[in-house]
Amino acid sequence: MGKLIIEARINEYAMRDVNPQVPWTPAEIAADAAACREAGASIAHFHARQDDGRPAHDAETYAEGIRRIKAASDILTHPTLGFVTLDAPPETRVGHVVEMAANPETRPDFAPMDTGSTNIDRYLRDEKRFHTTDLIYRNSTGTLQHFAREIGQVGVKHYLVSWNIGFTRQALALMETGAVPTPAFMLFVLTDGEVLAGHPGTPEGLRAHLDMLPPADGSLHWAACNFGGDLLGVTPMIIERGGHVSIGLGDYHYDEIGRPSNAELVARVADMARAAGREVATPDDVREMLAMG
Ligand code: ZN
Repeated sequence: MGKLIIEARINEYAMRDVNPQVPWTPAEIAADAAACREAGASIAHFHARQDDGRPAHDAETYAEGIRRIKAASDILTHPTLGFVTLDAPPETRVGHVVEMAANPETRPDFAPMDTGSTNIDRYLRDEKRFHTTDLIYRNSTGTLQHFAREIGQVGVKHYLVSWNIGFTRQALALMETGAVPTPAFMLFVLTDGEVLAGHPGTPEGLRAHLDMLPPADGSLHWAACNFGGDLLGVTPMIIERGGHVSIGLGDYHYDEIGRPSNAELVARVADMARAAGREVATPDDVREMLAMG
């Protein structure tokens, strides 16, 4: 079986109330990403944050994050497209990626495309109520075609994100039409927390994704994360089925195993991979596997 790619999802919009080791500032993000690289990660996914943890959406903070990550290690960079710019036009949502790609010092390696639309209101199960009732993550086909074009034109690698089987079908169609080149990379977002849009973070939830994939022909590499929940439970299955692992404090605090750092989580996955006979991929391996030039 091929080498295992470990991506560190280092912060998303996680706060520090449970696990204080979530990096926020560009300096913290860069130090954390370098530690993850040391532990076996080859990709760092991050969201720009302000000093107090609030989201940052300006291109400068993203650029500063990438500049510092690149200065601290050779880990591949994967900034978000901006979750809370939900209602912004597609040009704005992908704007910082295009801008950063123009400068080699701030050029991201990956840019994400969530290939569908879904409700993302948080459901507070204990209280049997929804926190909000009108949040839609909207990604029209036209928006996705725009993202695909812009990301491709600036030579950044498309990073497909699938929340459920409908997203996967749309992603496969984008590959089939040539909008997204192959070999492609696709993340399955399992959701065990308050967001109900993904499959559960269980073997059954992951298996449903895998059962729908076309026969493996090398044109698609897949990974899984668990937004709002523990990914370690399905990690052996991911490793065994030939997938890749995307894990970090952005998704979950891992309180029950002592609030580890991102690097400690990555090291744990790397150990599991090696024990199962899969080597851990370096950034150069990833470039080669995904034909990133
Ligand atoms: Zn993210």
